[in-house]
Order: sequence, then C-alpha cells, then structure tokens
Amino acid sequence: MATQVRLAARPVPFARPAIGRSEIREVLETLESGWLTTGPRVKRFEREFADYTGARHAVAVNSCTAALHLSLLAAGIGPGDEVITTPLTFCATANTIVHVGATPVFADIDPVTWNLDPAAAEAAITPRTRAIVPVHYAGRPVDVRAFRALADRHGLTLIGDAAHCAEGFAAGAHVAAAADFTCFSFYATKNLTTGEGGMLTTSAPDAVVDRIRITALHGMSRDAWARYEGRGVTDYDVVVPGFKYNMMDLQAAIGLHQLARLEDNLVRRDTIWQAYDEGLADVPVTRPAPAEPGTRHARHLYTILADEARCGVDRHTMAAGLAARGIATSVHFKALHLHPYYAERYSLARGRFPHAELVSDTTLSLPFSAATTDEEVDRVIDAVRAVAGMGARRR
Ligand SMILES: *Cc1c(COP(=O)(O)O)cnc(C)c1O
Repeated sequence: MATQVRLAARPVPFARPAIGRSEIREVLETLESGWLTTGPRVKRFEREFADYTGARHAVAVNSCTAALHLSLLAAGIGPGDEVITTPLTFCATANTIVHVGATPVFADIDPVTWNLDPAAAEAAITPRTRAIVPVHYAGRPVDVRAFRALADRHGLTLIGDAAHCAEGFAAGAHVAAAADFTCFSFYATKNLTTGEGGMLTTSAPDAVVDRIRITALHGMSRDAWARYEGRGVTDYDVVVPGFKYNMMDLQAAIGLHQLARLEDNLVRRDTIWQAYDEGLADVPVTRPAPAEPGTRHARHLYTILADEARCGVDRHTMAAGLAARGIATSVHFKALHLHPYYAERYSLARGRFPHAELVSDTTLSLPFSAATTDEEVDRVIDAVRAVAGMGARRR
C-alpha cells in the first residue's frame, strides 16, 4: 500500500527533458520576433553545431530520419544498391534505406560493445554494397577507424547514425569526423533536444551541401534566390522534387541553449551512470561495458540485460516490477529483423543475428537524463535490486 501511495505521488519518468530558463526565454523571444520558421536562429544553430563537431557544414533539419534520408540521397544511393547496417537500432536507420529504393543488409553486433561489428559488416559486403550506416548505440562510439578503413578499402560511403552520440569522441576527434555524413537527432528523449529536430554534418564540397539544402526544402533552388537578389526574392526554380525537411527558428531557439549546456549535461549523466554502475555492481544483470580507451561515450542510454537464466527474472518481469514501483523504462531495441516488415520482406528469421537477438530479448533501459534526480536514481537502484531478489544496498 505504501508503495502505491508513493508511486501516485512521484513516478520516475524514463527521460525527462532537461529544459532550462534560457530555452524558455529564447522561445518566447522567437514568438515575439515575428519570424517563426527557418531563419536567423537556425543559421546560428547550424554554425555553432558545426563548430562543436568540427564539421565544415551542418544542415539543420526536422528529424534525424530526414538527415539519414538526405545523406543516402546525397551519396547517390538508390534501387539495386545495398546498404549495411545494424539490426540493433531504431527503425528509421533502415526505413530510410528502403525509402531511397535500396536494400538494407543487416550484420550482427559485437557481443560486448553492442555496436555493429566491423568484421561482420565486412563479411556482408557484396558487389552491390554502396554504403555502411553504423549506429553509435546508446552513445558508445563505434570503431570509427575500422569503419573508415573498411569504407575506403571498398569505395563505400560511411554514414554515421549519431542519434545517440552528439558528444561522442573517438580516434582523437568528434565521431562525425570519420564519416562522410553524420546524422543527429534532437527528439524529445535525446541528449540535445528541440522537441523534434535533427542535424546533418559533413565536410563534403559546397556543391554537395547546396544540393542537400535544396533537397531538404522542396527542391527549390537557392541559386535562383541569389540570382534575383536585389530584385525581390519571390522567384525560384524547382530543380528536383524535394522534401519538407527544414527546421524552424522555434526549434533552433531551444537547440542553441541545449547545445550551450550539452557538456554540463554530459557531466551530470556521467555521474548518474557511475551511480548505476556502483548500485547494480552485485546484481546479476549485464551492465554496459566500460567505454573503450581513447573514446568518449556520450552516455545516452543506460541499458541492462535481464537474462532469466542469470538473474531469475526476464526483461518483461523486470519492466513490470519497475512499473509497479512507479519507474518507467524503455526497450532499445527490438532487433529490426524480428519486426514483421523486415522479417518478411527480406526473409530474415530468428537465429540470423544471435548477438543482436540476445540484446533484443533481454535489454531494458533505465530512467536516464540530465534531469534525473539523485533521489530518483536511488529509487531505481533499489527497485532493480528488489525485483532481482537482492537485498538492500550497503551504503
Ligand atoms: C531517435 C533515433 C533516430 C531517429 O531520430 P528522429 O529525430 O526521431 O528522426 C534514428 N536512429 C536512432 C538510433 C535513434 O535512436
């Protein structure tokens, strides 16, 4: 009974967005400025994000899905082409490959890092392979050197899905540096949020970036805008049937301040990460592996594996036990080849990617955001211990 009273009072959310007063102020100022959609704040956000990642260009869009789609189009990928990716990802990573008419080809993950295994990716290369899309799963940088070398050796485009990894560093640089295109998500639960939103970074030549910008806004040629400058800017040419992928100033207003606080928020999540590591150290669940030496993990998701054979409860029972204690969790991810569309369309059956399937079957993401309080972290640790049949922590 006491548990229920407590849960009614204070549920622990899965990923409370860490929104500050400055975001709220900037949104109000934007509303009052008379300019709501793509404009000066988006330009500033792009410049500052390019500076942060070290990329030559940053193109703000309305989702990471849009950034992935635009990257594949910019790489010239289409029908008849194959693109290799991980099954342990959000569906958008593979859906966009289908959107351009290409075939997604999955390769298994590394059983320790849970990231796409470069050797498995290499084994999946065929004469039709045109690109590889590794995902920095949960914020852990992939082996960027291995993937860059693999892409160069086989003449492939390397597209990084950094939806979890805005702050990731590896091989002495931001993870974006190794890839041809890198895609970021600013969805509500991500490390940097604009509610919905995304960014594409690249150091490709200006002409490629111009084409991406045109494709992201209905295919309207900006050259035309430049041509008519001084004579009014109402005239434009549609040069390709583009998409409606632009970011609004209202979103950039939030993003500018989220970016300014990104490093501080990472420090906070690092502290929570360590508290989980310590509080769950003797619990027979699998915790995330330590970050690889020489890398910076972006600490996006704290995911445990609850394997019934080891800890006595399966993932479903663990999630239900935490929910009964007012604690929200999430699953990242049900492996894509186990979803009906991918299983049926590409004839993929269980057993094909055993490492991804183990994570898919047993993974549970605990409440984790820069806005998660110490008290909430303690409650989560106590609840996981209780559901796993462990005693209270020694403090
Ligand atoms: C969230 C996410 C996406 C999609 O991001 P949106 O901004 O919602 O389009 C893509 N890939 C991964 C791995 C994600 O977690």
